[in-house]
Amino acid sequence: MDKLTIDDIAVKDKRVLTRVDFNVPIESGKVTDDTRIRAALPTIQKILQNQGKLILMSHLGRPKGGPEPKYSLMPAATRLTELLGQDVEMAPDCIGSEVEAMVNKMQPGQVLMLENVRFHKEEEKNDPEFAKKLAALGDVYVNDAFGSAHRAHASTEGIAKILKTAAVAGYLMKAELAALGKLLTGAPQPFVVILGGAKVSDKIQIIKNLITRASHLLIGGGMAYTFLKAQGHEIGKSLLEAEHLNLATNLMTVAAYSNPRKPVKMVFPEDHLIGSSIEGTDAVELASVDIPADKLGGDIGPKTVQNFKTIILQAKTILWNGPMGVFEKAPFAKGTMAIAAAVAEATGRGAFSVVGGGDSVAALTQSGLTDKISHVSTGGGASLEFLGGQDLPGVEALTKAPKKA
Ligand code: AMP
Repeated sequence: MDKLTIDDIAVKDKRVLTRVDFNVPIESGKVTDDTRIRAALPTIQKILQNQGKLILMSHLGRPKGGPEPKYSLMPAATRLTELLGQDVEMAPDCIGSEVEAMVNKMQPGQVLMLENVRFHKEEEKNDPEFAKKLAALGDVYVNDAFGSAHRAHASTEGIAKILKTAAVAGYLMKAELAALGKLLTGAPQPFVVILGGAKVSDKIQIIKNLITRASHLLIGGGMAYTFLKAQGHEIGKSLLEAEHLNLATNLMTVAAYSNPRKPVKMVFPEDHLIGSSIEGTDAVELASVDIPADKLGGDIGPKTVQNFKTIILQAKTILWNGPMGVFEKAPFAKGTMAIAAAVAEATGRGAFSVVGGGDSVAALTQSGLTDKISHVSTGGGASLEFLGGQDLPGVEALTKAPKKA
């Protein structure tokens, strides 16, 4: 990465304005999954140990541009207090005189959590005046919110341009970029990309960008049916993006001809678990590649699992994004769980594995195998865009590291 990081700047006695991604699920005022808060701890602890005055900012949910109690970051501050064993003070807003007064009173080694930046509609508009008000609270800016790096918002992009002498990446940002970057530059082969989830449309860029880098693209989940239909198979009532049938055909052609010496192998399901609805409430049956007109595919079948597994176990590099079926429903969860186990096993045998995307991470958590994976990405949209070859505005805006002599 050609950007400065938290290791390149002094934070002692400074107001360290740090963008984190504390967009966590909350129920009845309590954080129900603190993964994202834990992921920011290395950066937070580093700043506190080095006696910075830590000012945290984040968004949470999708408020409509004004304060909404259900989107308050208070529960996140409470959870962080527990994790740190140290008080995290909560500000009533993210800008304004009251917040400035709280910041002015801070001592080195203390933490202040600003209220949800999306309580101001100017945040998502990347309004320069709003960014200036945020920037006035800090001497240096740290961006550790990889999950928001694909958004050019005031707290992720505008502010970095203002505090540009010291706008640096935190450890989570650095780790995400390093892990995902490995997949784009010289990933050891075979490089197996496993894609699933609901829609082809979300994954077009990533397929296009990885088609020349991967050895295998294993396609499962709802998105497989558009490809199977394009091949002339019967897919019954399965998910179909009819407007992308041509694109699916094109992608298969590009895969076959992109590198004549070593074409990427696109592998599709050859059997499915089918039912009358994605609820999986009626009898779930096994079908071969074609699906009867009144049924839909809810999961990959055992033959497909075996085939995918054989390929995964030979991989040196693995990327997995998107579940293989409707894993939220027990009758359709087997395929996804089996793939999670195969990726974990391959990692145990020395492969470098990355799992990204909210639903695959949730599936991985369900499988209990999270700690058997080399890198689990915290950023769904951001990891998709990065792997799709796009620049992330939140990263681009950070201060460039001087070139090494
Ligand atoms: P995505 O956000 O595109 O990764 O999609 C994740 C969602 O895709 C999950 O909620 C799954 O239930 C859903 N999904 C996976 N396979 C299927 C399928 N065969 N039919 C319908 N939905 C599916």
